Amino acid sequence: MPLTIHQFPCLSDNYGFLVRDTATGLAASIDTPDADAILEQLAALGWELALILNTHWHPDHAGGNAKVKAATGATVIGPAEVEKIAPVDRKVAGGDTVALGATHFTVIESGGHTLGHVAYHDAADGVLFVGDTLFALGCGRLFEGTPQQMWGSLSRLTALPDDTTVYCAHEYTAANARFALSVDDAPALRDRAQAVFAARERGQPTVPTTIGLEKATNPFLRAPLLRPHLPPAEAFGEIRAAKDGFKG
Ligand SMILES: [Zn+2]
Repeated sequence: MPLTIHQFPCLSDNYGFLVRDTATGLAASIDTPDADAILEQLAALGWELALILNTHWHPDHAGGNAKVKAATGATVIGPAEVEKIAPVDRKVAGGDTVALGATHFTVIESGGHTLGHVAYHDAADGVLFVGDTLFALGCGRLFEGTPQQMWGSLSRLTALPDDTTVYCAHEYTAANARFALSVDDAPALRDRAQAVFAARERGQPTVPTTIGLEKATNPFLRAPLLRPHLPPAEAFGEIRAAKDGFKG
């Protein structure tokens, strides 16, 4: 596999991701949740950072940009909204391509959690970095966008191949599973929820996931099946609103 991926927990429930293009040795950080943790991990790996790829402007995603850039000289690439908190060297939007050596990421517009949120897809490796748009058994809260916008974003992501590996930015899966079981009793979901609870008891991560697994068990993606009387985006909006009010 041309892309090596190093995943590590940071802050209270974030994941940091450092990736390295095998052909050239160039590395990138997906977002900058915790500058000190990222710099420590880079030093331990012996990797040199060429790029920061931001998914959205929230401080637990772009808050470490300035410190990481100052320490490494990395080029900051992200949606225009990131400039709310830090300068961006290259602004990208849906359809753009970002090269990390021989690895190419396609930018996928994935607004809804924030208006300008983007995801990064490496089709050759079947790898997708989704920030706070899609979570294992969940999806991002709609801080800025509408249910229609988020449903369009999720639909773009789920149009990718089922075996695409999905790297979500938070370990929220156990809480997401408790909510999922409150709105859906599909056997595949019950089995997955048990596996998630057991993994978390052992302190193991439940990220990454896959597009296929999420399509089969994620109640936000299954919203049209769970609320068949509604148009898909409205069905999604109803499930999203139920989660916002859920006291698990
Ligand atoms: Zn966020």
